[in-house]
Amino acid sequence: MKRGIMEKRDRVVVIGGGIAGLSAGIYALKAGFECTIYEKNAIPGGECIGWNRKGFHIDNCIHWLTGTKKGTDLYEVWKTVGALSAQTEYAPLDSFYSSVEGGQTVTLWSDLKRTERELLAVSPEDEEEIRKFIRYVEYSKQCIYPAEKPMEMWGIRDYIAMGKEMADFPKVMKELGKCSIEDYSKRFRSPLLRKLLCDYLPKEYGAISLLVSYASIADGNGKVPMGASLQLSLRMEKKFKELGGEIFYNRGVEEIVVEKKTAVGVRLADGRLMEADYIIPAMDFYPLFHRLLPREYMPAGLRKAYEKPEAYPVTSGFQVAYAVDEHFACGETVFVDIEPLEVGSRTFDRMYVKAYGYDPVCVKDGRQVLQTCITQTDEDYRYWKSLSKAEYKEVKAKLVQEITRRIAEKYPELAGKMDVLDAWTPLTYERYCGAYHGGYMSFIAKPGSKKLKVNGKVKEIRNIYLAGQWTTSPGGLPVAVTSGKFAVQRILKSQKRDIAI
Ligand SMILES: Cc1cc2nc3c(=O)[nH]c(=O)nc-3n(C[C@H](O)[C@H](O)[C@H](O)COP(=O)(O)OP(=O)(O)OC[C@H]3O[C@@H](n4cnc5c(N)ncnc54)[C@H](O)[C@@H]3O)c2cc1C
Repeated sequence: MKRGIMEKRDRVVVIGGGIAGLSAGIYALKAGFECTIYEKNAIPGGECIGWNRKGFHIDNCIHWLTGTKKGTDLYEVWKTVGALSAQTEYAPLDSFYSSVEGGQTVTLWSDLKRTERELLAVSPEDEEEIRKFIRYVEYSKQCIYPAEKPMEMWGIRDYIAMGKEMADFPKVMKELGKCSIEDYSKRFRSPLLRKLLCDYLPKEYGAISLLVSYASIADGNGKVPMGASLQLSLRMEKKFKELGGEIFYNRGVEEIVVEKKTAVGVRLADGRLMEADYIIPAMDFYPLFHRLLPREYMPAGLRKAYEKPEAYPVTSGFQVAYAVDEHFACGETVFVDIEPLEVGSRTFDRMYVKAYGYDPVCVKDGRQVLQTCITQTDEDYRYWKSLSKAEYKEVKAKLVQEITRRIAEKYPELAGKMDVLDAWTPLTYERYCGAYHGGYMSFIAKPGSKKLKVNGKVKEIRNIYLAGQWTTSPGGLPVAVTSGKFAVQRILKSQKRDIAI
């Protein structure tokens, strides 16, 4: 039942203006609450942003946005928060990524039939596995992200409906649910196909993650909106403000003040207490449960994940952006062999380049942005963290030089013609978003480890509802945007109100 207009409205305070926080704010306003967001940075978006260097825009998030397919519950959520609309234009991309080795290239195309033909041409001896792979990706298209309401509010009908929609997906789970990407790749004889499977996600991760990711692209449900990631965040901010929300930037929250099992408000850096009836932390959970709230409130599952990073790894990157000739075309996202590159104690022999010329936002004066990323893990984070300020700067600069040389070796037409725009590391994500170990996705449960799902409540505090990508591994934008909605639905449920918003 909706409340009367004259009645004092409950105030929701959201901590963090990333995708989860903006989503929570929009749904809170739609549900009739007053809402204020406090964001520690100067702009919205959190991890879903980009920035300008030397007049070029570096887009640093969306490689694919699950939920771009009309008719899905997730699309409705993206529409409601103003991120997508019927007018949204998508990038003219037609593949997930390509892998190159020994002069041969294979690509995971958006068109599955094309991929099947190409893989069979490259490795006829893998026919049986290739056909199975294509079938598994086809089945994985059924793995739709539940976005209507939190699963604890599901009834028997919801489960039956899901069972029908995902009728074939259990076959993939049965065969590959406990298999890492690396183990899965060993079923293929071709070294190139093995590389193809291992190139994108860290190879110790579950094979299912790769299949489901590729399936969303092959299903037209993982497109890239034109205008880059920051614009998507700004559209959500605009929607939030249009609905009457207030967002304050450069206002980090230092503490959540709890009295008698009730959170009474948030303390800002300048010491002010901003009162709230409900608080939705939509920020990284590590600083949340180490700084803003006493550790004893940390959910047990989360504690376990922090204690066992080898079972719950996170992904980050050492990334470099360049300006190059706009006519340079290497394919969309292309992985290549490189002369071994040492980063800390680990050695990398593959890396990718991605040209952003498809979006005019990333093109200027006949030049486009080109990016590369060396995937980083917890171990790499610890390496970066061990360096002094001066060492950090020096290692970064040296790596940029080494990477630039390797790109020029692979693409001689770029030699001497690449302007370095910027380089950033796992520590950048930690500094900018408070990201645990610099992770820009949530924990990835390795096969055999339990997938982390944090119940949206903080035990023993009545009115805190959690949001953000760290609520459900492996995180990402769909988890972030739905978690904001779910947090508000949990508040509505606690008030015995209709959860349909
Ligand atoms: C290079 C890269 C590529 C990616 N590619 C994809 C992709 O292709 N598809 C996909 O789905 N996902 C992708 N992601 C992941 C995606 O960006 C994140 O999952 C998502 O943006 C997380 O949103 P969030 O709101 O949960 O958290 P965050 O973005 O971390 O937002 C949290 C916000 O809280 C703020 N904050 C923290 N502490 C405080 C405090 N004390 N007070 C006030 N504010 C605070 C932070 O500044 C931040 O703005 C990518 C990320 C990166 C970096």
